Amino acid sequence: MNDPNCLFCRIAKGELPADVVLETPDLVAFRDIDPQAPTHVLIIPREHVPSLELLDEAHAGLVGRMHLAARDLARREKLAHGWRVVTNVGADAGQSVFHLHTHLLGGRAMRWPPG
Ligand code: 5GP
Ligand code: ZN
Repeated sequence: MNDPNCLFCRIAKGELPADVVLETPDLVAFRDIDPQAPTHVLIIPREHVPSLELLDEAHAGLVGRMHLAARDLARREKLAHGWRVVTNVGADAGQSVFHLHTHLLGGRAMRWPPG
């Protein structure tokens, strides 16, 4: 369920400090330590899932709730002009923490495609 060596498992358990903005029975959301936009929040499951690559059918509801949490946080942060959710998967995408997370970014105009 949890990996004691995983940074985000430790944040979810409250063992490491973070600016937590939302907690639900199966999710935690906190501000990114190196924000790339005025709002940059990471939404993670409490369960240690290393990546989107390793999801199975049983996680479908969890992933839906991660997106609903992003929507709720975007409203709370008043991102009325738009916002973005991003999940990096693997080396080419630049995934650096191997505990599933969705980035919620907003508060500035964004370009497409991302770098
Ligand atoms: P990835 O590169 O895996 O898509 O995203 C990992 C994110 O975690 C990065 O945006 C990085 O800034 C953030 N991050 C890494 N370590 C910490 C930390 O200790 N606390 C917080 N709040 N964010 C972190
Ligand atoms: Zn973890």
